[in-house]
Amino acid sequence: MRLIVALAAVFVAFISEAWARDAVPSPQARFVVLVTIDGYRWEELFRGADASLVSDPAYRARYVDVPDRAQALTPFLLSFRNEGVLIGDRDAGSCARVTNDYWFSYPGYAEMLAGRPNPRIRYNAAIPNEDVTVLERLNNAGAAVRVFAEWDVMPAILNVARSGLSVFIPADPEALHDPQVVAAVRAQLATPPDVLFVALGDTDNRAHEGSYERYLAAASEADAFLREIWDAYQSNPRTAGRTTMIVTADHGRGGAESDRWTGHGSGRWRGTRVPGLRHAGSDAIFAGVRGPLLESAPAYSDASCASVSQIAATILAAAGRSDLAQPDMAPPLAAFADARE
Ligand SMILES: [Zn+2]
Repeated sequence: MRLIVALAAVFVAFISEAWARDAVPSPQARFVVLVTIDGYRWEELFRGADASLVSDPAYRARYVDVPDRAQALTPFLLSFRNEGVLIGDRDAGSCARVTNDYWFSYPGYAEMLAGRPNPRIRYNAAIPNEDVTVLERLNNAGAAVRVFAEWDVMPAILNVARSGLSVFIPADPEALHDPQVVAAVRAQLATPPDVLFVALGDTDNRAHEGSYERYLAAASEADAFLREIWDAYQSNPRTAGRTTMIVTADHGRGGAESDRWTGHGSGRWRGTRVPGLRHAGSDAIFAGVRGPLLESAPAYSDASCASVSQIAATILAAAGRSDLAQPDMAPPLAAFADARE
């Protein structure tokens, strides 16, 4: 009997050791979280709320009459300055932009996810994307990719019919979109996929409505959710220390004067230029990266401006799959340029 107990104990020890070895991911296992905050301006990210646009007393108390307006709005994203890389503070000579000619959403996401602008993509209609995105490439290569998007055009941008990617979009288009996306992501945070793409957008929706206060609230809520995702990944042994978070936007917005901030776009429309539609500066974006592969903070100045095209190769590098990069893709952001498997 004693022998049997001893043998059983050895057997159990052997099994649990083997299981533990299996359960621990290889050192190469890497996880990527891409979060986009549609049309969120670098101005609010780095300067905080624009005092000239806030009238509601509660919002003034929370976001304007405070010691540090930027910190009051999106403290987690700002922490990327110290914990990673945060590009696009033009007041400090840091530059990031879209390089497509349109400065609105479909061309922006298409450029971001394919690694270069496509001049034929000059619409926001739900036309299936002819370009293959890095999410499709990763999915085809066997990575588990999950997408949660506020905008119902995202399935077309990711060409779900061809790519087979599964894309969550809000069930109720009349209700606020981001809370529906947040709830859906939250429900699966305990079982992270290899690559998670969360596309938030109530910032853009509220800005187009001209509600600056609600635009601020959407940004603040997005920032809180970024922190929640990051904390969930860092407290999960499978993903802790192996996760890269990338946060950026598909375009910026116009300036504060004459309410140009409510819109965005280069003024190009069906091949012609319509000056009244131009929102100067809405090609300017921000880009933040936080994760284990960062080597040093890159300096992207006006003369060497970072491009949203670089996000595609950055995603591949962060996933340890730079072998999937295409010759026409912009290089990864500099902090990842030397990353090796
Ligand atoms: Zn928009």
